[in-house]
Amino acid sequence: MIMSDLHSKYYNLNAFDSPDLPNSYINMNQKVIDVLDNLTELSGIHFMVNSGYRTLEHNMLVGGIVNSEHTKGNAIDIHVSDAATRYIVIKNLLLLNVSRIGVYNLFIHFDVSSVKPQNVIWHSLSGFQYA
Ligand SMILES: [Zn+2]
Repeated sequence: MIMSDLHSKYYNLNAFDSPDLPNSYINMNQKVIDVLDNLTELSGIHFMVNSGYRTLEHNMLVGGIVNSEHTKGNAIDIHVSDAATRYIVIKNLLLLNVSRIGVYNLFIHFDVSSVKPQNVIWHSLSGFQYA
C-alpha cells in the first residue's frame, strides 16, 4: 500500500499509472485529478483515461514531446471520439478555467502547467508548439 494524499472521487488512481511502472500515479499532481473529477461531474460522463503519468521511457515510446506535462504528472488524456462529447468536454474544461487543451482525433488532452503558454487550444494538425 502506497501512502499518498492523492485522491479521486470518480477514478481508480491506478488509471493514472504509466503502463510500465505500477503505482506511478503517485507522481500525479492533485490539481489535474481535481479537474478530471469536476469535469466528470459537470459532464455526467465517466471518461476512459488514455494517459496520465508517463515515465520518460513510456513517453518516448508513445511519441510524446520532450518535456511532456505527462512526465510531470500535470496532464491527462481522456478518450473522446464523437463531436457531441467533444463539445461538452471543451465547454466544461473552459468553465473550469483550464487554460491548456489539446484536441486530437480520439482524445482530449488537458494539463495544468503554469510555465507553458496559457489560454491555448491546439489540435492534432497544429504541431506541438503549445503542448
Ligand atoms: Zn496528453
